[in-house]
Order: sequence, then structure tokens, then C-alpha cells
Amino acid sequence: DRIARKRDRKFEQFEERIKDADQFKVEQSVFDDATLAALYKLVQDGHVEAFGGPLSTGKEANVYQALAGDHEVAVKVYRINSSSFRQMRDYLEGDPRFEGLGGNKKDVVLAWTKKELANLERAKRAGVRVPEPIATERNVLVMEYIGNEDGRAKRLGEVHIENPRTAYEVMREYMRRLYAAGIIHGDLSEYNVVFHEGQLVVIDLGQAVTVHHPNSREFLERDCENVSSYFARQGVETDPDELLEFVTNP
Ligand code: ATP
Ligand code: MN
Repeated sequence: DRIARKRDRKFEQFEERIKDADQFKVEQSVFDDATLAALYKLVQDGHVEAFGGPLSTGKEANVYQALAGDHEVAVKVYRINSSSFRQMRDYLEGDPRFEGLGGNKKDVVLAWTKKELANLERAKRAGVRVPEPIATERNVLVMEYIGNEDGRAKRLGEVHIENPRTAYEVMREYMRRLYAAGIIHGDLSEYNVVFHEGQLVVIDLGQAVTVHHPNSREFLERDCENVSSYFARQGVETDPDELLEFVTNP
């Protein structure tokens, strides 16, 4: 009961925030018509009810907090006119899930959005804690919101972790599982792992490639270097080569 009341109060606060007309106008002017249509479709399908504030505004995408029924979700909106679309195209190379994709900007961004959802699904199946994938519509991805009433979960780079040795063990196991499932994150670092309820949650799997990618080895080596160097700074004895060996030849 107490929990239900707390939730209702939270819901009311949330509603007040999203009813703020000025904010909604700002959001509206940010989205092109096709993106707005995709958002409305997600509302109609019941995946999103109301928009909250932005969690992050990035180069390729903005991430928003939103309400869906009695819980919150994260909505990642990719920009069709993203300047990084050429890199996006490169990252889709060799991926058997997206064969025959041309060079059309819109098609690339739409495939990219689907790829992030597919990667989240695959990672989850492999036993890696990631935001639960919920839906995609065009350039919009809806997923589980990782955070609480105080806000989004903090990135590893933003918190002090009590037990870096254990966190490192979890991280290398996640990397091993991802690799065994045929994917390489490709942008793994303390910026794309968040700490939530005592768990590490891997985020931002848009650029993750399958092992078929011509540069997959290079991406994996870079991930190992980033992860190793972060944990070394936390006082853990690590070595990128040893990590690579563990991930690929456990
Ligand atoms: P960047 O280019 O900065 O790496 P990005 O545009 O690729 O970012 P993400 O890394 O996926 O996008 O998300 C940006 C930020 O939004 C994250 O660092 C995180 O703080 C927040 N965020 C993303 N997904 C979620 C989620 N599911 N729940 C809560 N917060 C999230
Ligand atoms: Mn990121």
C-alpha cells in the first residue's frame, strides 16, 4: 500500500512535468514529422504514454525518459541527418542481419536502430545485463529505463565503486558471453556501463558488431584496452592481452 501510494505520487509528479507546455514545444520542434509520427505510433501501440525530460543529448541520438503505464522507459531517438551516418554504414558491414543495405542515409539510420534492438535482445539471451529491449519504430528505440526516482543510473565513470575487483570479474564475464554470442560491443568503456542496484548494466549497443565484421578483432582489442585501463585506474591488476585471451579462449 505504501509502495502503491508512493508510486501514485511519483506518477503525479511525472504528469505535471510532462504537462509543462513549454517543454513539449521544445521537444516537438526538435523532431521532424516522420519522427513525430513514429513517436505517436509508439504511443498508440501502448509502448509510451508520455514524455519526460531528456536523459542525454548526443551526436547521433537523444535519450528521453518516458512513462508507460506504471513504469518508466527510456526512448532513444536517432537523428536521420546524423553526421556520423558514414561511420554507421561502416559498422553495418558484414552483418548478416543487414545484408544488401544500400547507402541511403535514412535506410542506414533505420537499420542502425533495429540493430541496437537486435543486439540488446542477443545480449540479454546471452546472460548479459542490458536494458530490456521493448520496441522500435523507424528511428526510435524504446527500452527499459535504468534508474530510480533520483534519476538515471550513473555511469561507471561517474561513481566510486566499492569493489572494483568484483566489478572487473563481472565485466570480463559479460565480454566473454557477448563474444560467445557472436557480438562485440565496440564502444565499451566506463561511459557505456552503468551501475544500478548493485549490478553493472551494459548500455549503448547500437554500434556493436557481429564477429563477421572485417574489423571485429580491432574493435574487441580496443574494448579490452578501455576496460582494462579503467579497472587498472581503480587499482585492479589487469592486462588487456590477458583479458582478450579470456574473452576469446576461456
Ligand atoms: P554517446 O554518444 O554519448 O555514447 P549515445 O548517444 O550513443 O551516447 P547512449 O550511450 O545509449 O547514447 O545513451 C546516452 C546516455 O543516456 C547514457 O550515458 C545514459 O546516461 C543514458 N541512457 C541511455 N540508455 C538508458 C536507459 N536505458 N536507462 C537510463 N539511462 C539511459
Ligand atoms: Mn554512450
